Amino acid sequence: MKRLADLHMHSYYSDGLLPPEALAEQAKAAGCEVLSLTDHDTLAGVRQMNEAAARLRLTNISGIEISTFLRCEAHILGYNVNIDDPVFVGFVKELEQGRRERAYKILERLRGYRIDIDPDYFCGKVRGELSRSHIAQAMVALGYEPDVDTAFKKWMKEGCPGYVPIESRHPKSAIDAVHAAGGVAVLAHPMRLTLDDYDRKDFIRLLAGWGLDGLEAIYKQSSPETVRRFRNIADGLHLFVTCGADYHGGRGAITARPLPQSAARALGLDG
Ligand code: AMP
Ligand code: MN
Ligand code: MN
Ligand code: MN
Repeated sequence: MKRLADLHMHSYYSDGLLPPEALAEQAKAAGCEVLSLTDHDTLAGVRQMNEAAARLRLTNISGIEISTFLRCEAHILGYNVNIDDPVFVGFVKELEQGRRERAYKILERLRGYRIDIDPDYFCGKVRGELSRSHIAQAMVALGYEPDVDTAFKKWMKEGCPGYVPIESRHPKSAIDAVHAAGGVAVLAHPMRLTLDDYDRKDFIRLLAGWGLDGLEAIYKQSSPETVRRFRNIADGLHLFVTCGADYHGGRGAITARPLPQSAARALGLDG
């Protein structure tokens, strides 16, 4: 029997709204047996999620979603990473620092467009690391834009005036760091790579050459056609396929879906 799983969600330690405990409860209610908290560039909530999941007799796979950049943004999910590995902990500290620096750069850019958000604005409001979501929310709260969607479309998306990529982080370095910490590396939401279909396939092949282990072909509300397309790419490159709803609290929902056997094996869930 395949296990029901959702391997992609965010807590308030990154840009999600909820604490790990609430996510674990929602995962349980949705029928999941396995889940993974994959906050952006931080492991801050993993221990708490492990405990919350255990209390509900769920399995939490230690996870993280690492933002990288190579021609376009590529998010690398690290699963089963050893969160006590000092080298990995150091790597994640650098990610957190890089995120803070990028946030300041974004705010500086916005200031050039007369959008004035003081970095101190976020003190006491943001528990974990700053993300574009927080900045977009601030733009709304301070009356610069009517809603977060508009703020993203006008300022935050790749190519927009307020967009600053995380250029220094190469996908290969994320894959290597995950492997060195005993984990497996999965490319998150490949359908969202800002490339055309042909280039997407090439890009995934490149990452597979660097040791990528899996592909999140079953993502959020992807159509069956999209899932099929990325499953085929995964099969051709011997990557396992994972499923995740990328729930941040609010809109959307944690979704229990059958985890393909090859992923269960790679994640050590067999036996
Ligand atoms: P960051 O991790 O700082 O690069 O910010 C990216 C995050 O912004 C993603 O993880 C999403 O949660 C969120 N996001 C991306 N696009 C949108 C959008 N159009 N509207 C609202 N949130 C978005
Ligand atoms: Mn997010
Ligand atoms: Mn992502
Ligand atoms: Mn995500």
